[in-house]
Amino acid sequence: MPVPTADRISVITGDITEQLVDAIVNAANPSLLGGGGVDGAIHRAAGPELLEECRTLGGCLTGETKITKGYRLPARFVIHTVGPVWGGGHDAEDDLLATCYRNSLALAEAHGLRTIAFPAISTGAYGFPPARATLIAVKTVMGHLGRSPFLEKVVFVCHSDRSFLMYTDAIRELTQEATGVLGKGGHARQDHRHEQESTPADIQKQVAGQLQMIEAVHGIRFVNRDALAAAIGQGAADRRRVSVTTAALNSYVALQNLHGEVEIPKEVLEMILKKIREW
Ligand code: ADP
Repeated sequence: MPVPTADRISVITGDITEQLVDAIVNAANPSLLGGGGVDGAIHRAAGPELLEECRTLGGCLTGETKITKGYRLPARFVIHTVGPVWGGGHDAEDDLLATCYRNSLALAEAHGLRTIAFPAISTGAYGFPPARATLIAVKTVMGHLGRSPFLEKVVFVCHSDRSFLMYTDAIRELTQEATGVLGKGGHARQDHRHEQESTPADIQKQVAGQLQMIEAVHGIRFVNRDALAAAIGQGAADRRRVSVTTAALNSYVALQNLHGEVEIPKEVLEMILKKIREW
């Protein structure tokens, strides 16, 4: 019997070191002795005790995981995993990346942890193509959640708006596939990035889709959804601005930890739109 997944996955733009979850996942290197990127940020935020504990672990192989305490982080634990270095796709990189996600989820469950945040493993210094890595991340996590009811929330923490869009696209695409919305031979991906001109009707459709997606990933319902859609459609006059506006709205919902029936205050939306217009 499949277990519902949509309301157990969120995507936010932000810094993983600030996430208040049971465990954050570190895209570590095999020495586990710190490095650049998200690894460096986690060690800086957790403090020197993290490195001390990591020294006792004897490193970590690609695809495997080790757990430590979170020390000065808001998260109680750090799950360290080593992603594959991209070498062109012929060295089982896809499988190894999926293994990182699977092993991290399994380790969290083995420790009784219920909320976990992931960065985009391997997509920085390790050079994995981001769109490909995103699909693997989302597919693997959705697959796991569909089989296991234990984890309450998996958060994908994106370090850029571009990454956020890739995750939300992937979730929409895979959710539609899973629920059979597309029918045979359908193709869910709507790649807005390559479109040049958009009519007001296109914009309105995009806004509606993004709002629906935010509702789906957070398991909420906007009570003032029509007013929201109209305001965004008028205030953000092109596709890129719509994407950035809805990304900001999504972060607001995630950070406020909103549930159920949600009314976005007018002043919050106005503030977001003002920023986008000045942008
Ligand atoms: P890897 O070596 O596995 O490629 P990196 O740390 O170089 O790991 O990058 C992994 C991803 O983490 C990149 O997409 C990068 O933008 C992102 N990232 C970097 N710092 C943070 C942070 N503080 N919070 C969330 N994601 C981050």
